Amino acid sequence: MIMNKAMKSCDQCARQHRIFHRGRCLRCHEQELVADRLVRVETNFLPASRYNKYLMDLFLVYIRKLKLRAGYACQAESLKVIFEQEKIKFVGTWQDIYILSEKYQIWDTNYRATGCAFKKIGRMLQGLGVIGHSEEEGRNLKQFEKNLQLFRSAQNLVWIDSFIGMLKKSNRSLRTQIIYLQYLKHLEAWLSRNQPTYEFKSITEKIAARYFNDLKSDFRSQNHIYSIFRNFHKFYRWGERGNYIDKNPFEGLNISRPIPKKRHLSEEDVKKLFRFVKDKRSDPEQALIIVLILVFGMTKEDLVHAQLSFLQDGRLRILIRKKKKTVGGKGISRGHVLELPMIPQWIFELQLSYAKWWKKRLESVHQIYDRKPLLLPHNNLYAVSLDSTVLERRLKKATMEAIGWSVSSRLLRNTCGVINTRSNDASALTKLGWSSKYSFDYVWLQREIVGPPQLDK
Ligand SMILES: [Zn+2]
Repeated sequence: MIMNKAMKSCDQCARQHRIFHRGRCLRCHEQELVADRLVRVETNFLPASRYNKYLMDLFLVYIRKLKLRAGYACQAESLKVIFEQEKIKFVGTWQDIYILSEKYQIWDTNYRATGCAFKKIGRMLQGLGVIGHSEEEGRNLKQFEKNLQLFRSAQNLVWIDSFIGMLKKSNRSLRTQIIYLQYLKHLEAWLSRNQPTYEFKSITEKIAARYFNDLKSDFRSQNHIYSIFRNFHKFYRWGERGNYIDKNPFEGLNISRPIPKKRHLSEEDVKKLFRFVKDKRSDPEQALIIVLILVFGMTKEDLVHAQLSFLQDGRLRILIRKKKKTVGGKGISRGHVLELPMIPQWIFELQLSYAKWWKKRLESVHQIYDRKPLLLPHNNLYAVSLDSTVLERRLKKATMEAIGWSVSSRLLRNTCGVINTRSNDASALTKLGWSSKYSFDYVWLQREIVGPPQLDK
């Protein structure tokens, strides 16, 4: 191999690099080698099923859109071995992807610890609309199963199993199920420390009272304690019906319900936010995210799944995905189109500058599906929905710029609720697509202004 350490212009990428091989820099040389390896993977590939071939194709399409790295070739070769030996079951959800990911563990550790081959396939399937759930939901499911494994009593598990079955049947969200498991796990651990047994059925009213006393001395908030109490009350009521226990020990317990409050931003901070979004020098994406939450009451889920198109006059037309509704979800369920208004002038100008930015950005994002997400990834990847943690990060950065401290999407949206119910009338919120029950909360609940976090002296 000829090596020349002097800086020269690479034949392939024309950048000044150390020339590594045949007039090419190391990166270009690597790309070439990996491309060859990928061709070899494809040419004598004997998949165990047509579906396996389909999954492999998705993987190859995905990585060929990226800068090829040696790690990807290794992943492709590992996949080939698996796909030739085993028939992969149809992937219908992110959970299926997570199961495959855990089972085969094809990580691209050279490059990024998170670069799992099956997750790449999952992102492709999501982009194609085959699996609708976000990666986050997959993470939740993983957490759910992990929690379930931590229980030690078989009897407790039987009880939990029947309870979770009931929650699922009544369409409670996965998040709710995880919260139940976490509380119950805490209870089991407490029992094992304070009782001769860790069986849930051993709890009497007296033991239950002691448990809550311990929680209080743990400096937990009243809200938290009340939520734990409500959950256990429900769990034991189910146990009573299913004969797992004779009497619900939480029945006679007196845990008072804290007064709920709606936390929101101060008028001064709201003014600053408006000053920021009206300012033409502000980053159009940051300004638009703030406007869509603060003025139009969009949730972060709405935002990450929204699709964008344009009206003839240049206004933005935002398609909001209809969300699967769960019982506890007090949010909104709207599958509708939001066409941003022409007036005031600043909102129209913001749309124009966002459109300009977005179109340019879209050119450098790979588009393999016919989808146009409202928010685009900042690194040069695919135009698929962002993870909501990414959105939260962008919003925090935006509010840092605008008011000097970072605000969560929830707090900003609550502020939208408060602004829109100033006259004790929630109809403005229902017009935004919020459920009437959730909107009404803004009329009667106590309010609390949240300011920037206090710095320690
Ligand atoms: Zn090069």
